[in-house]
Order: sequence, then C-alpha cells, then structure tokens
Amino acid sequence: MKHDPAKAIFDLKQFGEFGDVNPSITDSATYTFMQAKTMTDVFKGEQEGCYLYSRHWNPSNKYLADAMAALEGTEQAWVTASGMSAITCAILQLCSSGDHIISSMTTYGGTFAFLQNYATKFNIKTTFVDICDLESVRKAIRPETKLIYTETMTNPMLQISDIPALAAIANEHGIKLVVDNTFTPMIVQPAVLGAHVVVYSMTKFINGKNDCVAGAICSTADFINSLIDVNNGTSMLLGPVLDPLRSSSILKNLHTLHIRMQQHSRNALYLAGKMKEAGLKVSYPGLPEHKGHELMKKLMNPDFGFGGILTVDLGTSEKAARFMEIMEMHDVGYLAVSLGYFKTLFSNSGRSTSSEVPQEIQDEMGMSEGLVRFSVGLDHDIEATWQRIRHCLDMMD
Ligand code: PLP
Repeated sequence: MKHDPAKAIFDLKQFGEFGDVNPSITDSATYTFMQAKTMTDVFKGEQEGCYLYSRHWNPSNKYLADAMAALEGTEQAWVTASGMSAITCAILQLCSSGDHIISSMTTYGGTFAFLQNYATKFNIKTTFVDICDLESVRKAIRPETKLIYTETMTNPMLQISDIPALAAIANEHGIKLVVDNTFTPMIVQPAVLGAHVVVYSMTKFINGKNDCVAGAICSTADFINSLIDVNNGTSMLLGPVLDPLRSSSILKNLHTLHIRMQQHSRNALYLAGKMKEAGLKVSYPGLPEHKGHELMKKLMNPDFGFGGILTVDLGTSEKAARFMEIMEMHDVGYLAVSLGYFKTLFSNSGRSTSSEVPQEIQDEMGMSEGLVRFSVGLDHDIEATWQRIRHCLDMMD
C-alpha cells in the first residue's frame, strides 16, 4: 500500500499528561525507578518502555521521533541536536576503521567535509562518484565498502538520486543505503523506496521557522536501538541529544509541513518558469528539461510538488553577489544560508554552503562560481515576487 506521509502525521494520537492536545514537555535529565532491578535491566537493554536518562531517550523527543518515523514509514527514529549529528552518528554507527564509503560527489558541504577531512582521521575512506551514474557506483564497491551515501535531491546541484536502483545495488552487496532527505520531506520517502537509513536536517523544511538547529535518523528499530546502546551506540556515546523544549516546538511545526511543502513547491515552480522565460540559466527538477525530471516524477508524491529549491547560474561570483545584494534590498528575501524558511533565502553555493568542496571538485560536478541557490518562501503573491526579481535583474544591466 502506498505510504501517505501527511495522513501518517495527521493520524498520530499524541496527547499530554492531562489530556493536553500537545504532548507534555518532559523537562528532566533523569528518571526515577521504583525497583533497582528495573534500572539494571534497562541498562542491559532487557527492559523496554522505561526512561533512563535523557541522553538515551526523553519522552518529548520520543513523540517527535515517532512522528518522524510516521512521516518516513520507518519502524523508528531518533532525533538529534543538528542535521550534521544525525549524518555523522548514522555513518559512524555503520563504519569502523578501515571501512569504505561511496558518496555522491554533490552533497551538502558539511557532509563532504566530514567524509573527506574528518572520517579519514579514523581511516574511513570515501570514494566520491556522480550518483546519477549507477555504473560508477557499482565500480566503486570494494570488499570493505559499508555504505552508499546520497541526498534524495542533491545540494546544490539538484540531481535526483535513483533510490530504488541504489537500494538494489546496496542489497546485492549486503551494504546500506543512507539517504539525506532534507530537501524533500513529504515529497519523497526514501525508506519506502528501499533506503536503509534516512537522515534529516530538521533545521530546514521540517521545522520551517529557522529558530533552531536539529536533525533526525529514521530506520529500523534494530538500527535505532544500536545507536543508543549504552556500550557502543554512537548517539549514546557522542551525545548529540536534542533539547526536549525544542523537540516539542518542532513537533508542532511538523503538523503544517504538508501545506508548507505544497506552497514552497508551487512558488518555486512558478519562479522557475518565469526565470526560464526571461532567459536565465535556471535549474529546477519541476522543469521538463531538468535531467532528473522524469525520475523525480517516478519517486515523488505528486501532492507535494517538486520542492522549494531552485538554482540560477549568474556566471561569475561577482554577478551573483551583486544580484543577491540587490534582491535583499528590494525585499525578495534574505541573503542567508539555510533553506526551508517561510521567507525566500538565497546564497552563492560555491562561496558559502559548498565552500568546503575544493575548486577542482566544484568544477567536476559542474558547479558554476555564479550559482545562486534559492530556497523559495511561502509568499502569497508569487507574481509580485517575480516582478521584484525582474526589477532586480533590470538593475544588473
Ligand atoms: N543536509 C543538508 C542537505 C543540508 O543542506 C544541511 C545544512 O545546510 C545539513 C544536512 C546539515 O544540517 P544542520 O545544519 O542542521 O546540522
């Protein structure tokens, strides 16, 4: 049966301690036990349903984790203090020293830096490939390969990962497919399509308010339990736990995600069409000429569109900088990193969120120095926004 992510969230029955319509916030680091043996059993992993210590589980975080698992159609989830901690905990749980990773060359700059500069300190090596070239993925597999890593829609090149095909390759070799779904919540459910682990920066669309940094890992109960194992769980031992007050506010925002994604997508499609008509070099998976358009149509839930992110190539970083400054002055949105906010945000990827990626690799993935990434906001009158952008373009001449 098709997974309906919006219904899954809508159908959640999560109440507070006194019948509160919002789940209670558990403002405690530790929890009492009536019997000492129960505590011992929880430590041994032999007793479920008890809370031990908030680095392990916190009831407020469990509500949000259950909602994320419902969204993704996974058995369980665990929420983290940032998207990066979700990514790094998932990877470090799956890999040990000497292991190997195959990753999309185009990933968020922080992920790229972690794989290229940090994981190597523990002798975990990564081969970066064009994730759309399945043959190069196959060729990169070695006996010590533990996982294939990609983003559903890659940041910032907006390539679409063929998740079912990548999952099939992973399964053939007994390795895991880990997918970052930060750009496409509601739109794509990677685990339903075969991914073994789905990671998120909830900082972006999931929360949608730009008031905090947070992340999530969605997977099987076994994998989530392994992450919080007191003896060797990466999340338990590195400790990037989300604050329960925050998880409570993110959970409330998750309940409007389906409406927000529709509006982000509608607005982005509108702007992409207008930008194309105006002769700009625009990339958006909703445009028929986008390389991943047909694949995206196969993977996506059409109710939520092609997402809120598009890019425009201005040619040079100087032009990109001037365009962004003019747009900010004329109230198109903000010159800021991040995405998934109710206002439009724009940044020059090569000089900001992908600046960790060396120039030769930026060149190899075809990232122009003039690439401006737009996270299109929830503007009610998107034609008025387009008119403002038009005016800014005229000022560039
Ligand atoms: N994944 C993607 C696709 C991102 O764009 C980002 C941040 O921009 C992250 C992960 C990292 O998330 P966070 O900033 O919440 O740690």
